[in-house]
Amino acid sequence: MGMLEGKSLLITGVLMDSSIAFHVAKLAQEEGANVVLTSFGRQFRLTQAIAKRLPGGGAPVVQLDVTNAEDLAGLADAVREHTDGLDGVLHSIGFAPQSVMGGNFLAGEWPDVATAIEISAFSLKSLAVAAKPLLRKGSSVVGLTFDAQFAWPVYDWMGVAKAAFEATARYLARDLGPDGIRVNLVAAGPIRTTAAKSIPGFAEMEEGWSARAPLGWDVSDPEPTARTCAALLSDWFPGTTAEIVHVDGGVHAMGQ
Ligand code: NAD
Repeated sequence: MGMLEGKSLLITGVLMDSSIAFHVAKLAQEEGANVVLTSFGRQFRLTQAIAKRLPGGGAPVVQLDVTNAEDLAGLADAVREHTDGLDGVLHSIGFAPQSVMGGNFLAGEWPDVATAIEISAFSLKSLAVAAKPLLRKGSSVVGLTFDAQFAWPVYDWMGVAKAAFEATARYLARDLGPDGIRVNLVAAGPIRTTAAKSIPGFAEMEEGWSARAPLGWDVSDPEPTARTCAALLSDWFPGTTAEIVHVDGGVHAMGQ
């Protein structure tokens, strides 16, 4: 029996087959889950096409732009067309305008920083609240961060957004725990996805990661990160919430 047999999961963030979320959806189907995806705007058709590459031959896609109040209000009903309830939600969403990344931290302007924080941090609360009517006792919300304890080269205001995201996860864990809902994050090392490649100077962030990692690190392999997300979505972390699990080859614990 698969680790996610009989589970229903809502998975955001499938843009390409390089997306971390695509690999979580793939593993989830392989482990027996029923998967519903979200997408929005011009990306919607792309997500539908990419979904056909999943082992199950596809997955329904519902509309969700996390900055759109109507989408958020309609999310539970849209998902209900495909499943009665949810056992897990993956938040795999990040965006910051180019102007606030790339080594120009001091020039960051509030409207662009606000966009980064709304889409990359506040959206965890928006998504969890929108999905809550469907979330069963024992369910799991999982998100993806890039360790926000440090000031990284070129990550700039996206790093500040990730710090807000990590704090948001802790407060959500506090407020959803009484309903039996866990909230955990995976702090992944650098992976070459569309979002990563849109960071000006991303190469500086991946540089040397593998050499520093006791386990080594492959920037073109999202599978280790996806496996950990799948495990956190399963019943195998029943007493864990407000946690950040590092999937970075061990870099977070090493001195230089
Ligand atoms: P990706 O580009 O494949 O996925 C990013 C997703 O965010 C896309 O599917 C996009 O549609 C979605 N998105 C952007 N704005 C949105 C909005 N307004 N509403 C709904 N969805 C929106 O890249 P990825 O690397 O798979 O990113 C997934 C998550 O992983 C992000 O939170 C990212 O910060 C995090 N992460 C990535 C890395 C890395 O190196 N790639 C490392 C650590 C954490």
